[in-house]
Amino acid sequence: MAGKRRVALVTGGTGGIGRETCRQLAAAGLRVVAADLPGDDARQQDFALAMQGHDVSFVAMDVTDPAGCERAIAAISASHGPVDVLVNGAGITRDAVLRKMSRDQWDQVLSVNLDSVFTLCKLLAEGMCERGYGRIVNISSVNGQTGQFGQTNYAAAKAGMHGFTMALAREVARKGVTVNSVSPGYIRTAMTAAIPEDVKQQVLAMVPTGRIGEAADVARAVVFLCHEDAGYLTGVNLPVNGGLFISF
Ligand code: NAD
Repeated sequence: MAGKRRVALVTGGTGGIGRETCRQLAAAGLRVVAADLPGDDARQQDFALAMQGHDVSFVAMDVTDPAGCERAIAAISASHGPVDVLVNGAGITRDAVLRKMSRDQWDQVLSVNLDSVFTLCKLLAEGMCERGYGRIVNISSVNGQTGQFGQTNYAAAKAGMHGFTMALAREVARKGVTVNSVSPGYIRTAMTAAIPEDVKQQVLAMVPTGRIGEAADVARAVVFLCHEDAGYLTGVNLPVNGGLFISF
């Protein structure tokens, strides 16, 4: 990417899709900050090893804590300068059929996956508008497009991200800020590792490309939308699902 080196903040940055996004954004020339829960020493070391040779630093951030997010962003602004690119990647699942879903399972999923998008965009979008440049990418899910058994909470949160994306895209378009979402299908990460093998095989049978996706497949789409030359692409949802759900 030409010109000044842009600063990118990736939430859920040490997760499967997050870390690959950090690596690819850094390889594209951005200065990257991965924001995630503190994690244990082993996880931190593993992340540092994976990011070796790339301009990726880490900041501890719980996206469900707005005051903590504000403090972390102030620290990033001091060390790196203002954030130009925001990737909202933090996400969790707490699956249960509605009949058995607790209020807490609902609240946790909405808080991490959707409320956090409000928090982070609220903290960063105004500055992007003032500076006349910004890229925001929200990591949604195919299950937000189609719904999924046992995921009323997750599907609602991920579909909500699309509505948010389209609305904010309209609000900030004149200011050089784009807002898009990426909807992964089934990707090989910790999130899908817990899915029973027989269910995985059933899903795989429905994927026209015949393979589960890799974090790199998703990161490539994110980097594309974050490119300086992608300024005419806004309010878009980019599915990365191997053809699992084909629509227009
Ligand atoms: P992952 O579990 O490897 O990564 C998620 C990351 O979010 C983790 O690093 C976790 O620590 C972080 N996180 C959770 N709660 C947080 C909080 N309160 N504050 C800050 N960070 C928090 O899973 P992944 O597959 O890499 O998921 C990344 C994103 O992609 C998520 O939003 C997920 O919903 C979405 N997604 C994943 C798949 C898939 O098949 N893996 C499919 C569709 C969408």
